[in-house]
Amino acid sequence: MLIVMDDRHAKKDVAAVVNRIKEMGCAAKLISGSRSTFIEITGNRTPLDPGLFEAFHGVKNVIETSQNHYKLASRNFKSKDTIIPFKNFQVGKNTFTVMAGPCAVESEKQLLKIARAVRKSGAHILRGGAFKPRTSPYTFQGLGAEGLNILKLAKEETGLPVVTEAVDRQSLEKVCKVADVIQIGARNMRNFPFLREAGRAGKPVLLKRAPFARLEEWLMSAEYILREGNRSIILCERGEQAIADPGHFNPDLNLVLGIKEASHLPVFVDPSHGTGKGSRVAAMARAAAAVGAHGIIVEVHDQPERSLSDAKQAISIPDFHRLMEDLRSLSSVLGFRL
Ligand code: PEP
Ligand code: MN
Repeated sequence: MLIVMDDRHAKKDVAAVVNRIKEMGCAAKLISGSRSTFIEITGNRTPLDPGLFEAFHGVKNVIETSQNHYKLASRNFKSKDTIIPFKNFQVGKNTFTVMAGPCAVESEKQLLKIARAVRKSGAHILRGGAFKPRTSPYTFQGLGAEGLNILKLAKEETGLPVVTEAVDRQSLEKVCKVADVIQIGARNMRNFPFLREAGRAGKPVLLKRAPFARLEEWLMSAEYILREGNRSIILCERGEQAIADPGHFNPDLNLVLGIKEASHLPVFVDPSHGTGKGSRVAAMARAAAAVGAHGIIVEVHDQPERSLSDAKQAISIPDFHRLMEDLRSLSSVLGFRL
């Protein structure tokens, strides 16, 4: 961390800052240029809060010089891509993994029908929300524990691993009994105590980016999970409200590239929440594969127009089948493993 003193600072201002740094058990190095004075802090074992120094007299600003707020998530810490093994496939590196299923588990009949179909088309993981974090409290909130039982049935029948969302501590405990991957939704990306809990749950975590969260914030959220000893995290870009196209959503595909530079963790795209419109989902999914994402999570329904949640963005079973065929063609051109 670098403290920049303002041009009119007094000697005693520097002394006060240096004293504070030493009090904290760190070392201070004075760098005096012809016009500016900087104080470099070294020897800190954990990241420092810039706010600790900003209020000192004579301080102009404080610059963070390292990425150690997301040390464990960074490529500097681990240069090789993280690979998360499942029974018949792996997530990460040169692979493209497809998580598919309804937005919400609605009934046994609905989920089993969709699960069988997506497995047949080549999906790797079955999705389906039992606990739904809905913006309006008056809309379908999910079947809760009953939904988890249905997911368990579908998993037993199809052999597909399951990803489903935990929304709080209570649901996390229940979700862990059934899920192979715990989904943490966009709304909970900044729920730091909950991220710690998920880090201790002993299952891979799918961590969605909250709308407007910067890349660094997203990786710091992943860091909360990593610090608990859980190294199996899949990041998932789900986009945010499109300014130029109201009512639709934009996933930021640039973030896939940014994450791959900054981190070793696999990164997925959600083309369903990421567009908000069924007719756009397949194209966005293909774009995600083309840009180098490690997979997608996509909402599929046997009767899209009758979905109890997110009906507008659900794709039909035949459309999902065509998407898988497209992804297979892309995999041979682009050289990823599907
Ligand atoms: C979902 O995947 O069903 C979901 C609620 O996603 P998000 O957290 O991205 O809104
Ligand atoms: Mn949804």
